[in-house]
Amino acid sequence: MHGPTTAPGGLPPACDFTVFGGTGDLALRKLLPALYLRDREGQLPADTRIVGVSRSDHDQAAYREEVRAALLEHVDADRLDDAALDRMLARLHHVTLDVNGSEGWHELHGLLKDRARHEDTVRVFYLAVAPGLFGSICRRLDEIGAADANARVVVEKPVGHDLASAQAVNDAVGEVFEESQIFRIDHYLGKESVQNLLVTRFANTFLEPLWNSHWVDHVQITVAESLGVGDRGGYYDHAGALRDMVQNHLLQLLCLVAMEPPTYVGGETVRDEKLKVLQALKPMTPADVDRDTVRGRYDAGLVGGAAVASYADDLGHDQSDTETFVALKAEVHNWRWAGVPFYLRTGKRLDRRTSEIVVVFKEPPHAMFPHSEGGSTPNRLHIQVQPDEGMRLHLTAKEPGPGGIRLRPVSLDLSYATAFAQASPDAYERLLMDVIKGNPTLFMRRDEVEAAWAWVEPILTRWAASPDRPRRYPAGTTGPIAAATLLERDGRTWQESDS
Ligand code: NAP
Repeated sequence: MHGPTTAPGGLPPACDFTVFGGTGDLALRKLLPALYLRDREGQLPADTRIVGVSRSDHDQAAYREEVRAALLEHVDADRLDDAALDRMLARLHHVTLDVNGSEGWHELHGLLKDRARHEDTVRVFYLAVAPGLFGSICRRLDEIGAADANARVVVEKPVGHDLASAQAVNDAVGEVFEESQIFRIDHYLGKESVQNLLVTRFANTFLEPLWNSHWVDHVQITVAESLGVGDRGGYYDHAGALRDMVQNHLLQLLCLVAMEPPTYVGGETVRDEKLKVLQALKPMTPADVDRDTVRGRYDAGLVGGAAVASYADDLGHDQSDTETFVALKAEVHNWRWAGVPFYLRTGKRLDRRTSEIVVVFKEPPHAMFPHSEGGSTPNRLHIQVQPDEGMRLHLTAKEPGPGGIRLRPVSLDLSYATAFAQASPDAYERLLMDVIKGNPTLFMRRDEVEAAWAWVEPILTRWAASPDRPRRYPAGTTGPIAAATLLERDGRTWQESDS
């Protein structure tokens, strides 16, 4: 298939960006603010239209008012200006249709065809609706002739809730669109610090000789949330932390840490290397699951000094065994990483909100300062994904002063906010521009998504069969005690970001 021509820099001359679910939380809170901010910087194709699709009956003026209110709420005040707002709002259209019905598609079709040079327009279809609707949307787009070579479809998580359902979603979308037209979004991959991990690894030489089992003791990846499930309990209870966070975000971060250098960063090469990591993950037997995974569920507690309810209270009943916390030990069985544990943990209602990767290096082979005060601590490279994106390298140094040697831990700090004048864009800003430009590198390919499900599924199966229930942890803590024990029995501890 041949897509539309693009200008240097990959920008097409015109774009129709259609959001199915254009009045939903994701669209109003993330997607439209991201498009506004890129538009404000002059980065959208000049001839861009944004079409919101939903069942609710909005005329153009009402939709523009709803989006204006959302932008005022979700964009920082210092990045709001009247000219940019007016330009963005003028791009907006709304089409009322139920994707399960046959009404309204002609209107959408007519709008999309209403272009002077139709063949030069990139058409993005962002599916910000429940995954059960993806198949019928794609079929309808095909029927109205909108799924041609100029079209790209963006698929939000969750892609399935196990391997078979992920394959069904991929089949349904794949019946209409070629794999090269499908952009499966994992917004973690759009974060500046995550992309900087690739740059740090592959645009510098000092790390590569150390980045292996000879020098790395273990790796920790934490994605902690202080929020509970709020009013999304109904959705969350069908997913749980393993499906909601580990299968996608945490495994993607693991891949970026563990992957081999690609021949260049772009196109399919990064995805090829990530896939190899997923395929090298040691499959878990039931005994491995019992030993190497911990699931938890929050009780009432204190978060930031405020009393918060238990998961059961948030959900409205106590019949659920869904986990709101997971810690596990994974192994990448290849030459570079054999014997290096990757400890992953994620949970809701924890003591703070943080996403971080810590690469812990081995102890020096020999103690060189026998009469020193204090000890050396293992070097750690700490990559802060959110909040306050940055990187810290923990070293041992001599405390200044006479009278012997005192060893003290110190760190080299790279804070994005202070090192670079401009603020980091939101992940969606980067990713939506990549869709418009047709750059797939930061999106998940079908084989990656399915390999991740194939690894996660034995854990889900064992948990479902096990008489054990998720362990309780008080809200506002670091999770169940068993998560600490998982590392302690290997002689290690979780590295908290302020330690
Ligand atoms: P939401 O707030 O419930 O919004 C759903 C949107 O879809 C609304 O605009 C709704 O409008 C529209 N819609 C629902 N059924 C429709 C139908 N049959 N035909 C046409 N439009 C329909 O949901 P959301 O939070 O935005 O999430 C959307 C999807 O993205 C979900 O699959 C979610 O899991 C995923 N996601 C969300 C987030 C997030 O931060 N919110 C993050 C990652 C992934 P009408 O009711 O007027 O039709």
